[in-house]
Amino acid sequence: CGIVGAVGAEIDLLATFEGLRRLEYRGYDSAGVAIIHDGELEVARASLARESMNQLAEWLAVQPYSTGQVMLGHTRWPTHGAPTLTNTHPHVDCTGDLAIVHNGIIENFRELKVGLVARGHRFRSDTDSEVIAHLLEEALASGQLPADALTEVFTQLNGHMAIVVASRAHPGLLLGVRRTSPLLAASAVDHFFFASDAPAFLSLADQFYEVPEDVVVVLGDSVEGDGGVRLAELEPLAIAWSSQ
Ligand code: GLU
Repeated sequence: CGIVGAVGAEIDLLATFEGLRRLEYRGYDSAGVAIIHDGELEVARASLARESMNQLAEWLAVQPYSTGQVMLGHTRWPTHGAPTLTNTHPHVDCTGDLAIVHNGIIENFRELKVGLVARGHRFRSDTDSEVIAHLLEEALASGQLPADALTEVFTQLNGHMAIVVASRAHPGLLLGVRRTSPLLAASAVDHFFFASDAPAFLSLADQFYEVPEDVVVVLGDSVEGDGGVRLAELEPLAIAWSSQ
């Protein structure tokens, strides 16, 4: 029920993870992170209810790296699929190149999943959310650029949602989109963030933005000719603290 995403040259993974911890109040049964570092996409998940955060923190602490180009974090309050490890976000497509996190409900996921399975996609989870990864995989394989692909996939989804997407093929880029579920964006000197709520950004970012509904927001290195909206096109929000 909480999302954090960060993109930039040297993302401080522990500091970003602390941002996810500050969303614990939203409630969760399991939690996971995806990290892109040195061209690799790595995912860690924990489904030990409240212990999940400590387990992830311990995992992070023993990694040989402390920074990355992208970090995604998610706390899950299940709507479809039990609170198991395989149902814990982030979810990855068949190629292993894409990681997505999703808050909310995709009401038409069953029809979408039937079509994807018929076209050869193998699902790892029982969640509604995993269809996003596979639909995006198809849109990208057909030659669409990342923000255009997410825009097209989003039009197929009914329900309430905040979605953040990272791709190993574009490690400087993070995409976010929402409908009714909350999602904010934020910027610091050379880093950009998404999160479900402002406390996640505390001590990380200086400028805050609301992600407009039904519009893909592009953070970081956008791809030439791709669609979506950049932060420079949005009005910053006035929030009463600063990281300075
Ligand atoms: N519907 C998704 C799931 O059950 C997301 C739930 C959430 O908002 O945490 O995995």
